[in-house]
Amino acid sequence: MKLVRFDGFRIGIVRDAQVIDISDIVGASATEWPPVAMNRLIRDFAQLRPRIEQAASRSGTPLRDVTLLTPVPWPNKVIAYPVNYHDHAAEMGAAYRANTQGFFLKPPSSLSGASEPIILPAVSGRRIDHECELAIIIGKEGRDIPRERWRDHVFGYSCLIDVSVRGKEERVARKAADTFCPVGPWIVSADEIDDPAALRGRLWVNGELRQDANTRDWVLDLPGMIEMAAAIMTLYPGDIIAAGTPAGVGPIKAGDKVRIAFENVGEMILDVVQGETGRASIFRNPPDAV
Ligand code: MN
Repeated sequence: MKLVRFDGFRIGIVRDAQVIDISDIVGASATEWPPVAMNRLIRDFAQLRPRIEQAASRSGTPLRDVTLLTPVPWPNKVIAYPVNYHDHAAEMGAAYRANTQGFFLKPPSSLSGASEPIILPAVSGRRIDHECELAIIIGKEGRDIPRERWRDHVFGYSCLIDVSVRGKEERVARKAADTFCPVGPWIVSADEIDDPAALRGRLWVNGELRQDANTRDWVLDLPGMIEMAAAIMTLYPGDIIAAGTPAGVGPIKAGDKVRIAFENVGEMILDVVQGETGRASIFRNPPDAV
């Protein structure tokens, strides 16, 4: 099943390039704040699934006629594993790996969706890169999750771009800007992906293939990512794990079109635009002066 958020607050399923509105089943409304209807849907999915499947016979709206938003706009956290492919470690000159270094967090306010642009902050002279990553959506609350129980806690998968200002400032400050975490175009439920560690993921900029890798080359595997995060923090329904980028990261600039695709998951094409905000004092110096 493919689950989307669209047109402001609505939640839907995708069938034959049509979006079927199931907001009534989930209790999603325009006035709900914070917007946690998708978190609830994920938590209660087993009970709601029969009603959602019945709704598949409703008439829908063509996908091209809706505005696709980020599927989970208000997760408790976005966990991101840096340097989880050896070839990316080589291109960055990194001696560490995700399995020994752990993870960082991106703020939920950095999330954006498939119909929204990546807005570059006004940090002139800094390189801003794309990182092509699989998103893992947590389905069930848990702490100290042993690696053999990983499937019990995974709800589904999506495409994620970990947009990053290059430099030596704190990693979070370089990766936290609004729209620096596009996720979409939807969540594919875990039952549709036999093996998340066998997915080809690619990213293009203006049609040029920049990244092409397979999740089988993760340094820290998915059971390990869940075990490591849950050893430190309680995981909640809707939490997102960014699984790390392979080699081929590179700059994006205003006017670019960035396309990301993971096989059996989905794809989205995002515009890159220049924003007026983001002139943080930490980015005034050239990166090598820090
Ligand atoms: Mn990354």
